Amino acid sequence: MSKASDCGVLQLLTGLGLARIKTKPDYRRFSGQVHAIWPETFEAELVLEGIQAPHLAWTMLFRTLVRGLRGNPLHPRPLDQDSPELAETVLTFVKLHLRIQKHLPDLVLWPEQGLDADQLIGDGGWCDLCGQCCCHAGTVPHPPQGIDYPPFFYHALAGETLYPQPFCPFLFQAMGQPAFFCGIHPVKPIACSRFDKTDCERGSQGRGCITNDS
Ligand code: SF4
Ligand code: SF4
Repeated sequence: MSKASDCGVLQLLTGLGLARIKTKPDYRRFSGQVHAIWPETFEAELVLEGIQAPHLAWTMLFRTLVRGLRGNPLHPRPLDQDSPELAETVLTFVKLHLRIQKHLPDLVLWPEQGLDADQLIGDGGWCDLCGQCCCHAGTVPHPPQGIDYPPFFYHALAGETLYPQPFCPFLFQAMGQPAFFCGIHPVKPIACSRFDKTDCERGSQGRGCITNDS
């Protein structure tokens, strides 16, 4: 357990989530808050690295951990409070994202500066990339035929590395709009590939709408 203090995590996530809506936040603006929450330098540096990461979905961390968004009514994560446990959750999520990102080039390449939302067309246009269907506690991690993931991907996809996770750690955020995409889209698990418009429409109310974070 980190020695994180119990104040300021929700405030930090709010600032980062709103700043990240269109582009990467300026990490220097958040450095003081980060060091106050994670006094251990190596932990603070990891979080700052996460702020500079091109795909980390800070806006979804804000929506789920601050606003309490859950992708479905059966999601087991209780509402979050400002606490050392929440700081630990954020740190774990950031570490996981950075580790996933390091292994991605073996499977799929995304632009290093981030992926422009204008380049994304959600399944032919019906999906507006709200990302809510990926806000679950884990999925069946079977890859498509001929693909094998690094071993820890299977645990991360199943939601075993951070339980109960606020959303799938492979959900990435685009640039330019609050749009979200699958970080392993071309090789995503079979269960995810089978998710279609009917499943989307069967999901919780409000899915399919880009919500206003301001
Ligand atoms: S692997 Fe991709 S499509 Fe599947 S839940 Fe995670 S982010 Fe969503
Ligand atoms: S919930 Fe529906 S609209 Fe939103 S990303 Fe998933 S499939 Fe697309």
